[in-house]
Amino acid sequence: MEHIYDVIIIGGGPGGYTAALYSARAGLDVLLLEKLSAGGQMALTSQIDNYPGFEEGVDGYELAEKMQAGAERFGAKTELAEVYALHLTEAVKKVETSEGDFYGRTVVISTGASPRELGLEQEARLVGRGVNYCAACDGMFYKGKTVAVVGGGNTAAADAMLLSRICEKVYVIHRRNELRATKIYHDPLMQAENVEFIWDSVVTDLIAADSLQGLRLKQVKTEEERELPVDGVFVSIGRKPVTELLAGQIELDGAGYIIADESTRTNLPGVFAVGDVRTKALRQVVTAVADGAVASHYIDEYLAEQKQ
Ligand code: NAP
Repeated sequence: MEHIYDVIIIGGGPGGYTAALYSARAGLDVLLLEKLSAGGQMALTSQIDNYPGFEEGVDGYELAEKMQAGAERFGAKTELAEVYALHLTEAVKKVETSEGDFYGRTVVISTGASPRELGLEQEARLVGRGVNYCAACDGMFYKGKTVAVVGGGNTAAADAMLLSRICEKVYVIHRRNELRATKIYHDPLMQAENVEFIWDSVVTDLIAADSLQGLRLKQVKTEEERELPVDGVFVSIGRKPVTELLAGQIELDGAGYIIADESTRTNLPGVFAVGDVRTKALRQVVTAVADGAVASHYIDEYLAEQKQ
């Protein structure tokens, strides 16, 4: 007879590990499946200043390790495994992975969201050769060099700030003529001497030999095109939810996010979605951990109903 967990959590970001902590602490038998290491996108952020309790900010990787250890202290198990398929409609759900099949009465999806790509020819080939998606991870490779950041949201603004401290010159290329980013970023960015905005512009091509040499830009209002020599580009245009394995069996919105409200319940009984992967207004560490705690409350309620 296969072992049946009370809760299987897929994805070890802050939402996943908080669901693990709360559920394990409530006495449930919890397994968390993670592909590589704890933290998800959070682990790629070297300085998190908007998670309360850390007056000097905190390194995302370090916080992730602490979240994992905190959940494991109460008996949650972590298995490093890649999930291949999910069968979520029955009372006992089956998760097929690289390490074998696992069975659970409930499943929490906390697979997060990964960086959105520009969709340009050569983009995939040039990753690590000038094309980057994480300034905190790869910024140091461009010390004293010229880079461009594409995007106008909080990620682009935070990336441009970080890179302005490392690089000689930072261009911010945005398709509109104003930033979407929170006001707190505006003044420091506008005042940074080595940051230059290129408004109303999109990248239409990557100019490269073995590695990136520049960008072809189009001014969207005048349609004028030009080349911009850069050593690297940081693509900071938002994220896409990791929900490919769920298509066809769980309700997703038009952008691919799992439709779930503050209760974290999905349309499938016993299946919950927490963190960046679900529909929500603000995707932050603090909202992901809140989801994890709320999910465990509804997991408890669901399991109690099943026993009746
Ligand atoms: P975002 O807020 O969705 O912004 C994406 C930006 O990229 C927008 O400016 C958008 O332009 C642009 N864009 C989208 N697709 C594009 C394309 N194909 N070509 C060119 N530009 C494109 O995403 P985000 O900045 O990654 O932020 C995601 C979430 O994380 C947000 O909730 C954000 O607040 C949060 N976050 C917060 C912080 C912080 O508080 N410190 C830091 C990072 C992220 P338009 O403006 O024209 O739509």
